[in-house]
Amino acid sequence: MRDLLSDAAQRAIGYLEHLDRRSVVPTPAALARLRDLDRPLPTSGADPLAVLAELDEIGSPATVATAGGRFFGFVIGGALPATVAANWLATAWDQEAGMPATSPATVAIEAVAHRWLLELFGLPSTCATAFVTGATMANFTALAAARNAVLARLGWNVEADGLIGAPPVPVYVGAEVHPTARKALGLLGFGRNRPIELPVDDQGRIRADRLPPLAGPALVLAQAGNVNTGAADPIAALADWVHGAGGWLHVDGAFGLWAAASPAYAHLVAGFEAADSWATDAHKWLNVPYDSGVAIVTDAEALQRAMGLSAAYLPLAAGRQPDRFTPELSRRARGVEVWAALATLGRAGVADLVDRCCRHARRFAAGLTAAGFPILNDVVLNQVLVAFGPGEVNDRVAARIQADGVCWCGVTEWQGRRAVRISVSSWATTDADVERSLTAILGAAAAVRGG
Ligand SMILES: *Cc1c(COP(=O)(O)O)cnc(C)c1O
Repeated sequence: MRDLLSDAAQRAIGYLEHLDRRSVVPTPAALARLRDLDRPLPTSGADPLAVLAELDEIGSPATVATAGGRFFGFVIGGALPATVAANWLATAWDQEAGMPATSPATVAIEAVAHRWLLELFGLPSTCATAFVTGATMANFTALAAARNAVLARLGWNVEADGLIGAPPVPVYVGAEVHPTARKALGLLGFGRNRPIELPVDDQGRIRADRLPPLAGPALVLAQAGNVNTGAADPIAALADWVHGAGGWLHVDGAFGLWAAASPAYAHLVAGFEAADSWATDAHKWLNVPYDSGVAIVTDAEALQRAMGLSAAYLPLAAGRQPDRFTPELSRRARGVEVWAALATLGRAGVADLVDRCCRHARRFAAGLTAAGFPILNDVVLNQVLVAFGPGEVNDRVAARIQADGVCWCGVTEWQGRRAVRISVSSWATTDADVERSLTAILGAAAAVRGG
């Protein structure tokens, strides 16, 4: 056991230390070797040290270096070393984190992480939180509470009686709603296509001056952090509108909610605390390992009604019982990594992480602008959209950037224009990474446009 786990630690450390000297994407040869792992189910076992060696020798080179400082695709943060370490330890504990009977330690640690998150965001201590797999499930979890509460106001018990025959609840989303929030609405029986779209402005923000009148309780989804522009909806105005008619406002703040933790960027999400629930990802901007999302709900009772369950063999504890707040019963203690991130960073460290990523984004925008390429969004947060030419020129530049391997950026479409998207969300990105990446990006653009 000792040899095996020490070997795993040594290999993992070696992997992380090597990231800076390898291509961000794996080589074709490394990918081809993955086939060696695909063999018939072994009839008998093998030495765990040999199995681990095989995983490392074949698996590690075939990974994408998202844990390094030069991956700018999607909104992917690298895990802070302190959170990788906490993950290793909590994995060794192997606790079923849902109830105090099986895990008094992680229940207590997650209760602190819960309180620290609320303090960090400046939300009331009476809010309930749920540590779930990601923002998709955080949206689902919070919206389940919303569904319960809004239908209860209309005299309907959705947990007991389902949606068939329930009074209709209008659902509003911004035209730029994230597809996972739509999916969560679908899973909850509201339909993916039925939500009414609210018009947005040139940064993708819901237009507060174009809100329709509400006849009764509605469920409204706002966003803090548009995946293309980084912009946030006018949450305070939306809250006034929704609450005036007895409805519920949910905010998908998968990465953008972290702006609230920085005094320099909190103004971007001003008034966010007027909402009724929020979803965010710790595995994005808090830089903890996957999978780690957080649902926060002001109406703790509504969340417990939506997620509670009981059985004679499941003891109900006096204090906080995590499995009464989450869709799943058994789960890993992902909140331990959130605790470790907040314990090592502190309030100032989280703000600094956010500020640094935003500064890097501005440096990218300035370098690209100086080279003559238009930036399509207001670079207010960590997202940069750049156009290297019309249409698929951008796809060719992104493909070239990815193949060069110095850094990684993807393509997107922003209000009818094709663009390369740069998203800075990792603690590991340094000024030197940004300069190296900028040179590589401009080199790729010159190669594509010149040839
Ligand atoms: C990433 C993201 C999601 C989905 O989060 P997962 O953690 O991948 O489930 C939802 N909404 C927004 C705005 C996002 O950026």
